Amino acid sequence: MMNKNMLYRSIPKVDVLLENETVQELIDHYSRDTVMEAIHAEMDKLRKFIGECDDEEAAKAQIELLLAHIEMTVAAMHTPNMRMVVNGTGTILHTNLGRAPIGHEHMRRITAIATGYSNLEYNLKAGRRGERYSHFEKLLCKLTGAEAAMAVNNNAAAVMLILSSLAKGGEVVVSRGELVEIGGKFRIPDVMEQSGATLVEVGTTNKTHYDDYENAVTEETKALLKVHTSNYRIVGFTESVGIDELIPLAKERGIPVIEDLGSGVLIDLSKYGITYEPTVQDSIAKGADVVCFSGDKLLGGPQAGIVIGRKKYIDMMKKNQLTRALRIDKFTAAALELVLQEYLSEEKAVQNIPVLKMITRSLEDVTWKAEKLCRLLKEAELPAKIGLEECESQIGGGSLPLERIPSMAVAVRPERISVAELEERMRHLPVPIIPRVANDTVLMDVRTIERRFFQIIVSQLKELDVLEEVSLIAGR
Ligand SMILES: *Cc1c(COP(=O)(O)O)cnc(C)c1O
Repeated sequence: MMNKNMLYRSIPKVDVLLENETVQELIDHYSRDTVMEAIHAEMDKLRKFIGECDDEEAAKAQIELLLAHIEMTVAAMHTPNMRMVVNGTGTILHTNLGRAPIGHEHMRRITAIATGYSNLEYNLKAGRRGERYSHFEKLLCKLTGAEAAMAVNNNAAAVMLILSSLAKGGEVVVSRGELVEIGGKFRIPDVMEQSGATLVEVGTTNKTHYDDYENAVTEETKALLKVHTSNYRIVGFTESVGIDELIPLAKERGIPVIEDLGSGVLIDLSKYGITYEPTVQDSIAKGADVVCFSGDKLLGGPQAGIVIGRKKYIDMMKKNQLTRALRIDKFTAAALELVLQEYLSEEKAVQNIPVLKMITRSLEDVTWKAEKLCRLLKEAELPAKIGLEECESQIGGGSLPLERIPSMAVAVRPERISVAELEERMRHLPVPIIPRVANDTVLMDVRTIERRFFQIIVSQLKELDVLEEVSLIAGR
C-alpha cells in the first residue's frame, strides 16, 4: 500500500522552490508572474498525478521532475506558437502551411520598411497625402494591360468589394457551373449575399449557353460574373460561355463583366511543362471590365486580393466604405510591389519568386537536391532505411487541381517505431517537419524543402531518441 500523504508532503513548498537557483534564474530571465503561474500549474498537475497513480516509484519520479517541468512550462509560455515548419508534402501552395512563401531578399526589404516609417500613404514628390495602392498600381497596369488597380486583404474580400461596389441592390448573373466553394466554407453564393447583390443562376452544372445569360439579363442586372473554376474541373459533356462572348451583351446593357480568376497567373506556365492556365492578361485582353485574383496563389506574393480593370469601376471601389475595412497593410503593400517588380522580367520572376521557382525546378535539379539530403541522412546513421523515391508534387491552394509535377522524395522507413509514430514525432520537433505518408513510408518531397533546412532536418532526426525520453516521462 503506498503512502500518498507522504508523497504529497514530499512535494517542495512554493517558497522553497522560489529559493531554488534554477527558479531564480527563470524569474530573472522571464518574469516572476509567469514562473509563479507555471509553479502552480505544475504542482496541481503533480497532485493530480499522485492522486491517480498507484505506482510509488512513478510518483516519486514525477516529483523529481517537478523543476524540469516548471522550466519547460515557463519556456513554452514564452515561445511563440507560430513557427516555421519544413514542408515535406510537396504541395507548393499549402493553404494550411501558409500558402506562398516570401523570398528572403524581398523579406529583407519589407523588414527595412516595416521596422521604421515609410511613405505608405505619403506622396514624397508632392509632400502630401498619397495612396497606398500607388506603389504597385502602375506596375499592375503595365503587366496586365488594365487601366487601374488596387488590392485588399484577400481575394474573397476582393469579390465582396467588387459586388458591393458595382452590384449592391441589383442582380448579378452567374453560371451554375461556376458556383464554387473555395475551401474554409467560402462559397461564391454566400459572399454575394453578404455584398448585397442578388445572385441569378443560369444554365446547368455542366452546360451554360449564351442564351441563358441573354434571357436572364433584366433591368435589375448590374453585372455578369465569371468565376474561374480553379479548384475543380467538370469534364465530358460541357459548355460554358467565354468572356469575349459576354462582352457585347454587357456593352449593349451598359453593365460590366467581372471575372474572379482565383489564382491569377501572369506568365505562361505551359513553357515549363505545366497545363496552360488562362493568364490575367488574357482576361483583360478579352475585354473583362474588372478582374480579381489572389496575391498568394500562383502569383507567389503576400496574401492579398488584387483587383484590376476599368478606372471608373476601380474608382468606385476605392471610394466604397468597405475598402477601409478590407485595406491591405504596409507589409502587404511593400511585398506586392517587390513581387510584381520581378515580373518585369519573366526570367527574374521564375528565379526570385519561391512559388514559381519550386514549380519550374526541373526533375534533375530536384533529384540532385534529394540525393544530397539522402546522403546527409544516411551519414547520420539513423535507425531507419533511407532512400530516394519518385513522387509527384502538387500545386495546391485550389490551383490547377489535376496537375502533377514529377518530383523526388527522401523516403524514411523507421526500424524501431511505426511510420505513424515517426510522422507524429516529426510534427513535434522544434522545427516541425510535415512529411507525406504513403505506402507505409515517410516521404519528404524535396521540391518544397529549401536547402537551408537540410542540416536542421538531419540534426533533429538524429535527436529524436532523446526527445522520446522527455516526451514519455513528461506525458506530453
Ligand atoms: C482561392 C479563390 C478565392 C479566394 O481567394 P483568397 O485569396 O483565398 O481569399 C476566390 N475565388 C476563387 C475562384 C478562388 O480560386
